[in-house]
Amino acid sequence: MQLLTVSDKEEPAIYSRHIKQRFSDVDLAISCGDLPYYYLEYIISSLDIPLYYVLGNHAENVEYGCSTPREFPWGAINLHKKVLHDKKTGLLLAGIEGSLLYNEGEHQYTQSEMWGMVSHLVPTLLWNKVHYGRYLDIFVTHAPPWRIHDEDDPAHQGAKAFNWLIKTFQPTYHIHGHIHVYSPFVETETMVGNTLVLNTYGYRKLTYPDMSELQVVD
Ligand SMILES: [Zn+2]
Repeated sequence: MQLLTVSDKEEPAIYSRHIKQRFSDVDLAISCGDLPYYYLEYIISSLDIPLYYVLGNHAENVEYGCSTPREFPWGAINLHKKVLHDKKTGLLLAGIEGSLLYNEGEHQYTQSEMWGMVSHLVPTLLWNKVHYGRYLDIFVTHAPPWRIHDEDDPAHQGAKAFNWLIKTFQPTYHIHGHIHVYSPFVETETMVGNTLVLNTYGYRKLTYPDMSELQVVD
């Protein structure tokens, strides 16, 4: 199956009348935050696929901004503090919104609060293992993990709890945004155990094995 992941930057390749031709094979979309709701709604309407999202730390400036103010992007599924099973693709997804706390704004959290939100996911991840034979396929966040793709300033430091989650539950992907990439030399893909940590700044198209190919036979 094909996945489209987006964050932080509106891309002409997506916000285009050719989106349907370019991305007709995409099965599911994921937003890692700091994108306007109309952009997410355009992806959903044009491609007629499920879109899961977490908010970024600039939600109040970037994401709400449209002529009809809304509290959420219409038709999209908020993954924040949730573990969800997508029935269309069979994927197990979980998400945490926002960034580390730096100016007391909305959708900013301390390291302790990040730990609390990650802990909140654990019972359902354990239930997934019993029910589906695996904990999690894709972990979706706005902020990166600690010392992976992150930066030194308080706003762009990574969350330590995310490192624990990906080491413990080993999703196939941890997809994040928040760290803007202005040079091809900036690292945006890092393997941590069995998990590929990806900064999706802008957009990425990913291939994921179909669930029928992943069935474990006891
Ligand atoms: Zn951000």
